[in-house]
Amino acid sequence: MPRALITGITGQDGQHLAELLNSKGYDVFGLVKGQNNPRIAGVLEQFPFVEPVSGDLADLSSLVKAIGLAQPDEVYNLGAVSYVAYSFTHAELTADISGLGVLRMLDAIRMVGGLDDSSIRFYQASTSEMFGEVRETPQTEMTPFHPRSPYGCAKVFGHYITMNYRESYDMFACSGILFNHEGPRRGLEFVTRKITNAVARIKLGLQDEIVLGNLDSKRDWGYAGDYVRAMWLMLQHDTPEDFVIATGETHSIHEFLDLAFAEVGIDDWQPYVRQDPKFLRPAEVDVLTGDASKAKEVLGWEPEVSFAQLVKMMVENDLEVEAAKAHLHG
Ligand code: GDP
Repeated sequence: MPRALITGITGQDGQHLAELLNSKGYDVFGLVKGQNNPRIAGVLEQFPFVEPVSGDLADLSSLVKAIGLAQPDEVYNLGAVSYVAYSFTHAELTADISGLGVLRMLDAIRMVGGLDDSSIRFYQASTSEMFGEVRETPQTEMTPFHPRSPYGCAKVFGHYITMNYRESYDMFACSGILFNHEGPRRGLEFVTRKITNAVARIKLGLQDEIVLGNLDSKRDWGYAGDYVRAMWLMLQHDTPEDFVIATGETHSIHEFLDLAFAEVGIDDWQPYVRQDPKFLRPAEVDVLTGDASKAKEVLGWEPEVSFAQLVKMMVENDLEVEAAKAHLHG
């Protein structure tokens, strides 16, 4: 059985990827940090097939031990400080974990696997936030980077160091430049889930309004379940290469609000949405649109869930989750 080590196992993508790899017969190991973390316990309960391995992206020797224990064929580095707004107030931490953490993992792989060893395949979670203030539309693998947040800057380092280790040491190391991808497991701090959760709570009479920041930004939003398939495909390919993963469609937050509210029968959402400058960012990424033609051609990857299906899936999930919670507490 192939063996995979996933960092960021408690995050949205870690959970989707763990399920996918388990369904393909992998032994799945999840890097977990901390001594007694309730979030980790919750996720491990949900995914009993994941074997936890202790380690921290801030600590090289712990990564060497984790790789030694898991003996993975594939390492998926999804662990990061991943919330853009948080990266502005925790810039150094973000650089350390989302940037230097990648270098530590690459070094750990070389230390355990042999210095010129390409047998452990490495996936780096790069991001469309690296494009930031976009230089061209749509963005491809060749589009120059112009990050707009400490998160974007840290990820640019992670991207280039992955490429550099591939070129320098012949490692099978590649990056997926994934555009925003969402779903029922998305953290509540991200705008899509924040909206669908609030819409559900408004429908159920548990909340009166949603307070948001900039409503004008546009994103290329896909479904996380589709995107983890692309990660796996990249590591099965003959050669290590970087790929943009996106839907090719861009939508505004206004459109997301239209669909989410329509899902619960509300046509005019204006009375329910308030804007507060505290949610504005020091620098913003206005619009992202990805061109995933290379992934389609080379990997045969295509997204299956449409924007409208994604919004519907998320609202339906939040209606269920919030109704169950209200029932429990009511
Ligand atoms: P990002 O693309 O990784 O930054 O994903 P987010 O979901 O955090 O943000 C997407 C866009 O929504 C950004 O342009 C934010 O400025 C905008 N936005 C507007 N209001 C909010 C809000 O209340 N929370 C978040 N997270 N984003 C918001």
